[in-house]
Amino acid sequence: MKYNKSNNIDVKKENRNRIYKLICEKERISKPEIAYLLGISMPTVMQNVKSLQDEGLVEEAGVLGSTGGRKAVAISCVENARYAIGVDITRNHISTVLINLTGNIVESIRVSKKYQNTLDHAQEMGKLIDNVIEKSGINPSKILGVGISLPGILSDDGLTLVSSYVLQVTNERFANYQNYIKYPYLLCNDANAAGIAEMWNRNTLKNAIYLSLSNTVGGSILLDNKIYLGENQRGGEFGHMTIERNGLQCYCGKKGCLDTYCSALVLAEHTNGNLADFFDLLKKGDRKIEAVWEKYLDYLATAVNNLRMFFDCSIILGGYVGAYIDEYMAKLKGYIANLNTFEMDGNYVQVCHYKREAAAVGAALLHIKPFIDNI
Ligand SMILES: [Zn+2]
Repeated sequence: MKYNKSNNIDVKKENRNRIYKLICEKERISKPEIAYLLGISMPTVMQNVKSLQDEGLVEEAGVLGSTGGRKAVAISCVENARYAIGVDITRNHISTVLINLTGNIVESIRVSKKYQNTLDHAQEMGKLIDNVIEKSGINPSKILGVGISLPGILSDDGLTLVSSYVLQVTNERFANYQNYIKYPYLLCNDANAAGIAEMWNRNTLKNAIYLSLSNTVGGSILLDNKIYLGENQRGGEFGHMTIERNGLQCYCGKKGCLDTYCSALVLAEHTNGNLADFFDLLKKGDRKIEAVWEKYLDYLATAVNNLRMFFDCSIILGGYVGAYIDEYMAKLKGYIANLNTFEMDGNYVQVCHYKREAAAVGAALLHIKPFIDNI
């Protein structure tokens, strides 16, 4: 008897959640359509839509076109019913984004600030969070929390940065944060956060590898829409795959790591550290730059093909280089296809959606996702 009761509550909760997610997915939908698509009775749909409406999570949004008879009222999700904040900390910058329930960036601020685990840095971050809220003009009570993305490996409990080459720290705890952040907050690895952002709104993808091509190479493994961290939180450290035996010296102390061939620095070092200039010259047909790019693509294709062989899923290219790679995809796919044992093309490779702030958005989504899952 008891079992049946809890079972019944679960079904009710699940129905409500399915209705909410369908409204978000379809953008505008009528109640009869919801009932039809989900196989739920009309009274149940009406009751749930009403309660979602009362809570300010969905709203009526005009009428839908009809093929005859009465026009149906359209129901839409209220995108700005809640917000979350994402912070991305790098060696020399702090980025802050405010996103809504759809994952869209409503407001953002990026400032130069050299990383140090000091009161001053934590204070600056707290100030930025307050500023981004003030700039957007939203009611702070609608904020679910803050996600902080860090370039390094975090401890199991997510409270300590075990190691970060970028920030040059080991076993760093962030005790100062609680004094300057007024909202619930959590820490996450930057590449994992960016991977989460890229999976958001790609409804058909369940599994993917995210390869981040920034000043270091990293990535994340998303299986069944969840990050696979590995046994030591190092899953997705693709930058240190050995791509060339006894190859170039890597910052990690080993030789021939992917990082030494495919980081954004490999390109930018030819244009005084400026990646935009590199792609400008490439567009203009600079021979020397073209040769550097060819070599880069060759190693990237090898890495991508290896990842495809390991995981047999889509591979998303992101990071600083990912933001420029769109127009070179045909060429890259050609290289990839040449290496592949089973496939004739490289169509499993995709370009990132977020050309900037993917890590900050992903960190913020760590609050949005559970909120939506629990509606
Ligand atoms: Zn290495």
